[in-house]
Amino acid sequence: MEYTHTIDGRGETSETFFDVINPAEGKPFAQCPDASKAQLDAAVAAARRAFDAWKQLSYEDRRGYLNRFGKAFKERVDELIPLLVREQGKPLAAARAELSYTPLQIEKLCALEVPDEVLRDDERGRVELRYRPLGVVGIITPWNVPVSIAVGRIAQALYTGNTAVQKPSPYTPLTTLKMGEISRDILPPGVLNIVAGGDSLGPWMTEHPGIDKIAFTGSVATGKKVLASAASNLKRVTLELGGNDAAIVLEDADPAKVASDIFWAAFANSGQICLAIKRLYVHDSIYEPFCAALAELARTAKVGDGMDPEVRIGPIQNRMQYEKVLGFLEDTRRTGARILTGGRAMDRPGYFIEPTIVADIQEGTRLVDEEPFGPILPVIRYSDIDDVVRRANDTRYGLGGSVWTSNIATGAAIAARLEAGTTWVNQHSLPDAHVPFGGAKESGLGREYSTLGLKGYMEAQVLNIPKAKAG
Ligand code: NAD
Repeated sequence: MEYTHTIDGRGETSETFFDVINPAEGKPFAQCPDASKAQLDAAVAAARRAFDAWKQLSYEDRRGYLNRFGKAFKERVDELIPLLVREQGKPLAAARAELSYTPLQIEKLCALEVPDEVLRDDERGRVELRYRPLGVVGIITPWNVPVSIAVGRIAQALYTGNTAVQKPSPYTPLTTLKMGEISRDILPPGVLNIVAGGDSLGPWMTEHPGIDKIAFTGSVATGKKVLASAASNLKRVTLELGGNDAAIVLEDADPAKVASDIFWAAFANSGQICLAIKRLYVHDSIYEPFCAALAELARTAKVGDGMDPEVRIGPIQNRMQYEKVLGFLEDTRRTGARILTGGRAMDRPGYFIEPTIVADIQEGTRLVDEEPFGPILPVIRYSDIDDVVRRANDTRYGLGGSVWTSNIATGAAIAARLEAGTTWVNQHSLPDAHVPFGGAKESGLGREYSTLGLKGYMEAQVLNIPKAKAG
């Protein structure tokens, strides 16, 4: 298969290439073109040229283009599933779910409206609040859910009248490049450019004077660099960053009912989800049975190459992350915590780590305080609700949080006290197009999705019109 950037509506290769590794084998399986600075400049220039006509289209026209793109993508889903599994590592069913969501995600986002608002209309005149597109949006995305995250930002940027240059992670660039290929027959040239590259490409984008906004999704550390660099021309910035989500299980929760949902909210995508449960607080009175139920789920979940339809948990996506997660395990072992199951790398090629449940662990350890982003869950004991809320909030992260209980009203009252962008009762799930999504504290800046998200891709403009006077 050939992989090309999409620049000004055309496919382009590069002079140099980098390897894309299948994490289930730990070996390269494809080569990706590595965009040069000149290619990025060409993509930005094309997006700038396309902006004038694109911004003048109605929402309805842009919705039409985007939904046609979604439909064309849908026709290619079956073909793209194995590619996403091979580059990302996730199981077949998860790859199918991610790719199949694309047309629906576009449809949902493009069904939203950003109406102009009338702030005052009286004898003095009329004051309107309007929303205008910003220009060229640079979209930088991570390797964990590469297609969905990119599509969400692309749909919001384009629907609101901007044009875009998108850069996938160098670990998972290929399905996204294919998405660009599909767009070429549908979107006007330059409206969507997709360029893949190595470590320099992201900083080139955040420094680029021709880019008006950066929509970044990735780690907190990189997010801070993006924000600093975007200051060069005061680019608008949204940052969707890491999390260390706490889930609190109250004493009235039934392990038989909620353990499985909690387990999968922590271990789906091998724990590599921003909104995964990463700290589980369980009431002392049900602590042991709860730990036992989780350990059983971890022991019986089939781990392996995502291409095997029986597999539920794939490898860690890349070598660096794999070594990072092993570092967390080593550190955890030193703390004297009880490793109930897992705890080791698997003796096979690829970046596999056994699903790991850790009991009798506290704050002050790396596993509890940081984001491991892997298949390893600390289960922490508590006995007092005010104390556990304080501990759950005692973090620089603030992406999500959940409360699990048989009393929904109590759950809602406690969930509202969690300092996070999204909190739930008896669930801990993924973003939806109609609902604003983003992080409190160091988990992010701004919101994606919903009309609030769309407004983040626009500039508010006040139009102040006096009442017409004769003469
Ligand atoms: P990362 O920050 O290493 O990389 C993200 C993207 O930024 C990649 O495309 C990378 O090439 C690029 N990049 C790297 N350095 C850059 C720089 N200096 N300037 C501009 N771009 C640069 O993150 P990752 O390891 O790919 O992803 C994992 C992290 O992403 C986790 O922390 C996870 O929680 C977070 N994440 C957050 C969300 C969310 O919506 N909040 C969603 C998914 C992942």
